[in-house]
Amino acid sequence: MPHAEDRAPFLMSALYAPTLKEDPAEAEVASHRLLLRAGMIRKAAAGIYTFLPLGWRALRKVERIVREEMDGIGSQEILMPIVQPAELWRESGRWDVYGPELARLQDRQGRDFCLGPTHEEIVTATIRNEVRSYRELPLSLYQIATKFRDEVRPRFGLLRGREFIMKDAYSFHATPESLQEHYDAMAGAYGRICDRLGLTWRPVEAESGQIGGSVTTEFMALADNGEAALVYCACGWAANVEAAGTVVPRDPATTEPRPLEKVHTPQIRTIAELAEAFGISEHDTVKTMAARDEAGRLVFFCVPGDRELNPVKAERVVPGITLLDEAEFATYAIPKGSLGPIAPPDGTLVVADISLKDEVAWGVGANENDYHFFGAMPGRDFTVDEWADLVVAQPGDGCPVCSGTLAGARGIEVSQVFQLGTKYSESMGATFMAEDGSEQHFLMGCYGVGISRSLAAVIEQHHDEGGMAWPVSVAPLEVAVLPLSLDDDTASVARDIAHALAGAGVEVVLDDRDERAGVKFADADLIGWPYQVVVGRKGLAEGVVELKHRSDGERERVAVGEVAARVTALVTAAREALS
Ligand code: ATP
Ligand code: MG
Repeated sequence: MPHAEDRAPFLMSALYAPTLKEDPAEAEVASHRLLLRAGMIRKAAAGIYTFLPLGWRALRKVERIVREEMDGIGSQEILMPIVQPAELWRESGRWDVYGPELARLQDRQGRDFCLGPTHEEIVTATIRNEVRSYRELPLSLYQIATKFRDEVRPRFGLLRGREFIMKDAYSFHATPESLQEHYDAMAGAYGRICDRLGLTWRPVEAESGQIGGSVTTEFMALADNGEAALVYCACGWAANVEAAGTVVPRDPATTEPRPLEKVHTPQIRTIAELAEAFGISEHDTVKTMAARDEAGRLVFFCVPGDRELNPVKAERVVPGITLLDEAEFATYAIPKGSLGPIAPPDGTLVVADISLKDEVAWGVGANENDYHFFGAMPGRDFTVDEWADLVVAQPGDGCPVCSGTLAGARGIEVSQVFQLGTKYSESMGATFMAEDGSEQHFLMGCYGVGISRSLAAVIEQHHDEGGMAWPVSVAPLEVAVLPLSLDDDTASVARDIAHALAGAGVEVVLDDRDERAGVKFADADLIGWPYQVVVGRKGLAEGVVELKHRSDGERERVAVGEVAARVTALVTAAREALS
């Protein structure tokens, strides 16, 4: 064991951290730009990156926090393969439904494989012949590993990569109570992970997408440029707009019955054109979207003219639907720009947004080019087969759980927890012997943290014009010592401070490069070392150095003999606050 005093500082001159002076043109968001500029990552291909030493150090700190939290709730670490046999995906049924995001390949014998975008199949296949009794449950396994998803639009650097690092955990249970208990423990751990990463975050109700299952929560790092749109209420309810239930404010203007009136509307093909031509608001019209179900039956979805149909909600009402494409409008002989619920083709199912239920004078298309109806009244002029919440929620809508009004925000989905139920254990025949002796399918949960995405999310929330401003918990190194000149005195004081810090167990880098002070300051701020000790000749004449706190720019003058102890105390306190 080396003695603590032998720990040496990192030397900036030897560190492979190739910083860039210019902003890389391809980077649209701060984390992508700064990771490239600070020499932390390099692109190999679209959405595929190499981590350089500083980026990798920061990433490993994210991993360490996640590992501690997983171990803390009794999940056990494993490592599963990236290359997965197609048979398992055929068993679960996902080989055919996953689409081009699943990267497929063949081995030399022509056998099909894929690169794992997620690992439900492998983990279920691994345990199914070995875990046989309820006595061995619950069981929770996790890994931290590379995933590949051939995303349509990889962008924003680490935020949406094709190859990325994820922590994925899978749990197996005998009872719903046991699943719920572990799901809650995971959600607790995910919240602590966000806290320890220094993130401002919010849990939201979510959609389960390709993974399946019904109970699910996403953890969103709040960020103005986040890809996810959220709505939330003062009562505490919050949801991804993909999943959010909503109460669309009703419009009293259309609650008085009127006679049905057919109007000539030449060249009018959109809601905006209709509203403009008649001097009404788009909200007072009804937009009809045409889809077909798996059997080819037409389905008309009617929503307020100023609102968007939420495809997830539409799918929930009529499973297996697809919106019509251009050519299909001709096949069904219906006019795209003039659809409505009055006299649609025979057999059409009409589904309308619940907010329209009390409105009795709809402005709708007449299913005939150049004609619309006004004053159309459900029940009198046409039939609605089903009423449902169909629209994308938006700020200003009513909260679905209280009487409040929804506000909006944007976020980066850093993690998600799911209760899968028996989706995979049934399709893949994974059973155990229950307490009563019966053979039952495992109840499963799965839980993912985007490790590389979380790192980028931390930067999105912790940066300024000068560069990154890492929380101590994830900073690649905790302290930098910057001698402003390399004369004997300055250099040796700086070296002593750096060695004292290293000896005290602080991660410290000494900027020993023969560079101008301006270059050292700029690089230190760009890379974002949380604490910077600036050693200059002028200060030394008075026996002091300057200590800069990167996060808030605060500077203090500290006596040379005290600075190592002061910084060690700051770092220790910051580590503890985030542990
Ligand atoms: P998204 O909706 O953003 O595509 P997802 O819901 O498909 O993500 P999950 O299957 O829930 O992703 O994966 C778990 C976690 O992995 C996500 O919460 C996210 O942090 C991370 N992740 C997913 N896709 C990517 C990606 N393309 N690049 C980086 N991280 C990703
Ligand atoms: Mg997700």
